Amino acid sequence: MYSQRVLEAYGGLLTYGLDMTQYMLRLAYLVVAALAISACQNEQVISRQSFVFGTIVEVKIRAADRVVANTAIDQLFARFDTLHSAWHAWKPGDMADVNAQFATDSWFSPPSSVLSLLKMSKQLFTTSSGLFNPAIGELIALWGFHADELPDSPPEHAEIVTFIEQLPNMDDVEIEGGRVRSQHSHLSIDAGGLAKGYAVDLGIKLLQKHGIENALVNAGGDLCGIGDRGDRKWRVGIRHPDKPGVLASINLQDGDCVFTSGDYERGYDYQGRHYHHIIDPRSGYPADKAVSVTVLHPDGALADAASTALLIAGPNDWQDVARNMGIENVLMVDHRGRLHMTAPMQARIRIEDDQTREIIVTPSS
Ligand code: ADP
Ligand code: MG
Repeated sequence: MYSQRVLEAYGGLLTYGLDMTQYMLRLAYLVVAALAISACQNEQVISRQSFVFGTIVEVKIRAADRVVANTAIDQLFARFDTLHSAWHAWKPGDMADVNAQFATDSWFSPPSSVLSLLKMSKQLFTTSSGLFNPAIGELIALWGFHADELPDSPPEHAEIVTFIEQLPNMDDVEIEGGRVRSQHSHLSIDAGGLAKGYAVDLGIKLLQKHGIENALVNAGGDLCGIGDRGDRKWRVGIRHPDKPGVLASINLQDGDCVFTSGDYERGYDYQGRHYHHIIDPRSGYPADKAVSVTVLHPDGALADAASTALLIAGPNDWQDVARNMGIENVLMVDHRGRLHMTAPMQARIRIEDDQTREIIVTPSS
């Protein structure tokens, strides 16, 4: 029978925007879960958590040498702290500096970590047919998401229309060698849709440099794993979007990443409507076609961006976008509680919710 405890990572426990009590409760759960993990022959599973990227990041390593593992985890958390500050969408840091420089219309050389994000973002913008558009930082700020405390009400429709009429996009970012420039007066980069994925990729690479071959790096339910747990594969849960608990679980193959975007992560209610943090660049309004999307792919940054883009695309259009982005494994929950998935994804996941209403499988193209 399904048991929550057998899952290495469970997105439902780890969400954006936790208040302190929730955070402490969830952290306590994770500590208990970590203690419950048994040593495996002379190798042990070492597990530690830290609060970064607005969520609980948990690193698990199966290794014979505790000192090596702990040193690697120390470095990973230090790197994540640095990247979190550097890439923050609205607090002072490298990204804020880069956005201020974009406003000058002149060429400049951004820090290398931001340059990589810009290059990836340009490509993802193109392959997602513009649905993934990190150039809309100003619009995300207009919706009130560039603040720790969310607003009580949405912006005026007219303000949104004005922004959409002059919509900046990643083609407005020109890159020549190590220099960049934008001449669009409303361009502001918000890398929140891929930063976590890219950070987890870098985190896994850092662990590998320390000789670690078996690890799970889980940033609030968005994760990548290498190797296995020893006695079995790393097994992770996908949060149920509508209720507490797990919708499905996946046994990770070496190098798999699993990223989910959902309309429940960060948002506010106003006059009976829910306004959340993933914005459809075509309408300027929060994406309303699907509830959540999970993508499984070896590239964490791509999986992160694709889950955002496919959520915006919705149940009728996601297949073309997934194909263009090179994504084969997709699970989408729509507003009627139906699960849409690709055939390869169906082969990988186990549905854990007995009340799942309908499953629609898209054959591979
Ligand atoms: P989470 O960060 O909660 O895991 P996502 O990966 O889906 O969720 O990213 C959501 C974030 O992406 C938003 O908070 C915002 O910073 C950014 N974002 C919102 N809409 C878009 C969009 N259309 N294209 C690119 N990034 C977006
Ligand atoms: Mg994403």
